[in-house]
Amino acid sequence: MKKTVPRIGEHLVVAIDGPAGVGKTTVAGAVADKLSIYHIDTGAMYRALALKAIDEGIDCLREDSLDEIIEDVVIEYIPQRGGYKVLVDSVDVTDRLRTPEVTRASSDIAVHRSVREFMVSLQRGIGERYDITMEGRDIGTVVFPNAQVKIFLTASSIERTRRRMIQDNISYNPTEFLRVMNEIEARDLNDSQRIFAPLRPASDAKIIDTTCLTASEVVEIVMEEVRRNWDTS
Ligand code: C5P
Repeated sequence: MKKTVPRIGEHLVVAIDGPAGVGKTTVAGAVADKLSIYHIDTGAMYRALALKAIDEGIDCLREDSLDEIIEDVVIEYIPQRGGYKVLVDSVDVTDRLRTPEVTRASSDIAVHRSVREFMVSLQRGIGERYDITMEGRDIGTVVFPNAQVKIFLTASSIERTRRRMIQDNISYNPTEFLRVMNEIEARDLNDSQRIFAPLRPASDAKIIDTTCLTASEVVEIVMEEVRRNWDTS
């Protein structure tokens, strides 16, 4: 797969950013499938580090304690057909990444500069070797500011809560709905107000409000952007 004007060693990066529950994983996964390229979920990497911190009894708000973990930890992200595996120090932790405790801790550790630098170098290493869709909060602004395609997804918090409950298999009741919506809104606030790499669209990103769109419609808009910027033939 080559860009119209290829540069040596250049790979396609489709950067997909946006707040929690907006459907980044569904869209980034589907676009990756259509293009037969890897889908990289950077949130899973932050979650993996948060899990390690929890397991080691480390306070996720203390950057100096996290620095000690970062020095030795090995996080491996292994893309697979229809998903991925994440290994922390060679142990598969994929099934442990989506608990409420890990979710909260991932947002806490993500404010620290050293954590972000560690993650960005991991993520750039992947994008330098493969054609990818990469989802996160800072992919188009910080990790790959020269990505060929930059997408920023938005949706109302009610719709994002609905999608998150479906994704996490939570059955509907009003109390659970409010709990999930509060968690999403608190995390968005934390993610957008932090000093380093806050959640925001890149100035050249295509912003898509997905509130009233189906996943297939969003995928088609993203594919159109890919076709405009990359020769997919
Ligand atoms: O995307 P996901 O909800 O799995 O991400 C978990 C947390 O990791 C986010 O709330 C955010 O704080 C952090 N994150 C980030 N930058 C990314 C990806 C995730 O700060 N590129």
